[in-house]
Amino acid sequence: MIAVLDDFDPLAEIAELARRQSAEKRAADLITAAKVRLVTGRAVPYDRNDKKARAHALGISAFFSSLVRRTKDVPSWDIPTADTNGKVCRYRPDWIADMVRVESVIGIISHERFHDAFGHHARIRHLQLRRANVAGDLSIDSILRCAGIEVPDQLLFPERPFEFPPGSGRIVGPFPEGLSLEQYYTLLPDDHGRRGCPGQRRSSRIRPRERAPAYDP
Ligand SMILES: [Zn+2]
Repeated sequence: MIAVLDDFDPLAEIAELARRQSAEKRAADLITAAKVRLVTGRAVPYDRNDKKARAHALGISAFFSSLVRRTKDVPSWDIPTADTNGKVCRYRPDWIADMVRVESVIGIISHERFHDAFGHHARIRHLQLRRANVAGDLSIDSILRCAGIEVPDQLLFPERPFEFPPGSGRIVGPFPEGLSLEQYYTLLPDDHGRRGCPGQRRSSRIRPRERAPAYDP
């Protein structure tokens, strides 16, 4: 017997599959290119006649390249952007693929690795998750910018006011630069959100890696 599903469009399904495959390929290529730039000391542009600037740029690349080697990058269609749990960095393929410049991808990779380097996933276990994620982002994006890493404009910066909690209409900021996750957390309003990491609420059978909280950029 042959069943016909009213809402099933085979051509649309094939087109979506092709779109996803194309995005996955381009995203993987961009991430590889970004990692190569980091590992080979070309993450930050500098004046080749300026020895001090060169030493700074190479130091920045060396720092992030050491972090890049520790974490695995995997595509995921289940998230809107990218996140990390300290061991695995997930990225949404079409979000990465839409980035025009490899420098932006370097900025995203560096952003996620900074979360890992600061151990943010271990520091937010008893905090409101969304509020702690925003606080973590505020604590690292301006450092990345100071380091010369090209940070995508959509990320959060202390000097730029923004709406929080999202959809509340409440504008927060500007905040001082150079504070820690915990300091920014206390400056943000109560999110009335859940505490801890999502994995801890799903199941006791989840693997330890999945219990670590994840971050959005
Ligand atoms: Zn982040």
